[in-house]
Amino acid sequence: MKVKYKRLMDNFYGDAPFMGCLLVVPSCKNDCEGCQNQHLKREDTFVSEVKDVGLAIEENPFWEGIILGGLEPLDDKRNFKALMKVVEVSKVKSLCIYTSYEIEDINMDLIPSNIKNLYIKTGKYDRTLSSKHIQYNGWILDLASNNQNFYYFDRKKSVL
Ligand code: SF4
Repeated sequence: MKVKYKRLMDNFYGDAPFMGCLLVVPSCKNDCEGCQNQHLKREDTFVSEVKDVGLAIEENPFWEGIILGGLEPLDDKRNFKALMKVVEVSKVKSLCIYTSYEIEDINMDLIPSNIKNLYIKTGKYDRTLSSKHIQYNGWILDLASNNQNFYYFDRKKSVL
């Protein structure tokens, strides 16, 4: 199985309450006014074996998890499944998904069982609204507009 992505960024922190790697996904169908990530749409897209990307992530002992973002992970359903396979192969404990979709649009059955801490940022960017700061375990995160939400699912116990 192959997975598409634009970047795999090292030791990334600030967008999730853990340090990990940021996998920039390949596309976004939205065209939000004021989007800071439009330049990513023009970058080259890489296509790799799921196993190779997952094992490369597993090799880094400092990465607690994977952050999926940059563009929109849920637009391409087939690639989202491949991304979830990368998460499974990497054996990371934490996953953070940045999406413009709402929480009920996400198929939780696709999230691999190795993920014990699941964070999901939802909602479309609205440049007319102010940003929002949130805190998790001492980490301060910024959401681009205050209509967006940030969910935590503790999969060690029950869903919160
Ligand atoms: S959803 Fe995010 S990446 Fe896509 S256009 Fe809107 S702000 Fe940009």
